[in-house]
Amino acid sequence: MKVGILGGGQLGRMLALAGLPLGVRCWVLDPSPEAPARAVATHICADYHDRSALEQLAQTVDVITYEFENVPVASANALAERRPVYPSPRALEVSQDRLSEKTFFQELGIPTPRFRSVDTLEGLRSAVEWIGLPAVLKTRRFGYDGKGQYLIRERDDLERAWVVLGGVPLILEEFIAFERELSVLAVRARTGEIRCYPLVENYHREGILRRSLAPAPRTPSALQERAERYARAILEALDYIGVLALELFERHGELLANEMAPRVHNSGHWTIEGAVTSQFENHLRAIVGWPLGPTEARGQCAMLNIIGEIPKIEALLQIPGAHVHLYGKSPRPGRKLGHVTLCEHSEELLVPQLTALQKLLP
Ligand code: AMP
Repeated sequence: MKVGILGGGQLGRMLALAGLPLGVRCWVLDPSPEAPARAVATHICADYHDRSALEQLAQTVDVITYEFENVPVASANALAERRPVYPSPRALEVSQDRLSEKTFFQELGIPTPRFRSVDTLEGLRSAVEWIGLPAVLKTRRFGYDGKGQYLIRERDDLERAWVVLGGVPLILEEFIAFERELSVLAVRARTGEIRCYPLVENYHREGILRRSLAPAPRTPSALQERAERYARAILEALDYIGVLALELFERHGELLANEMAPRVHNSGHWTIEGAVTSQFENHLRAIVGWPLGPTEARGQCAMLNIIGEIPKIEALLQIPGAHVHLYGKSPRPGRKLGHVTLCEHSEELLVPQLTALQKLLP
């Protein structure tokens, strides 16, 4: 089975790795000559708009997916005329624009922070009147890892926020003083079967995911059920095939949807060692048309991202049970270079290892 992936970053690399034992070979299209997935997949080094590269991909593979949501929808649509593209380009389109994404959530009855579209400074002023402060101003498109965001605390910040972000379509959102951030990963097969992973508790700093705990500690089953209901509603509305991640804020026992990713997700990396079937394997199984694997956790897991610089590998491996994943990327401040997963039978057993690991990855 031959799978084409738009994007050749670490997610493409881990997808290709998951495919190898199952006889799935991956071809990645990525403009960077240093795309991390090139170590384990055939790399077509070209722009996402490059017609002949897209044609080459379509000619080579059986099915196409993505590991990066900012690929041009037009390219995904052009590929969909030649080969099955999963999830459908419609999922890509919805998730590329924070306004259409949040509107879509609301149409499905999924609660979100209050939001309003902003295109002018005047529009920003009136949105602030309606939403109140603090509020988060975000670019509607191409934001990731906290980029393209401005926290407006008081009225005096308003013009500054406009200078920093204005000129492109924006969205103003109510700032949520959440108790914690959670995410739910779900996978839908071509048959329509859906399986959900346990909720994950995520900790971000400077807009970048630092740590995930899975299954999310102290989570009532009603919360898990609600998150699953939201994920199912999205999967079914989009006739979605593959893995989807839904990021949520928990506040006063309520779940508010922040955003979705139409792909495998950083908060699901723990599933490689910590779940019966990893998110990467289940994504491939879904798009290829194979049966899904169980999504239960094998124990209590923690995943820490390696960001900006890589500690000595010997020090990481000294921690019992540490599973180290490096992405083959050159160090740069704020860049995700790898991750480490711990998986134990209980939270008590996990704590000492996690404490040791956090000293190396503060
Ligand atoms: P995003 O790019 O929308 O996922 O935002 C990155 C991070 O910024 C989130 O994971 C939150 O930690 C924080 N954030 C984003 N939007 C809000 C909001 N409306 N209220 C509070 N925090 C937010």
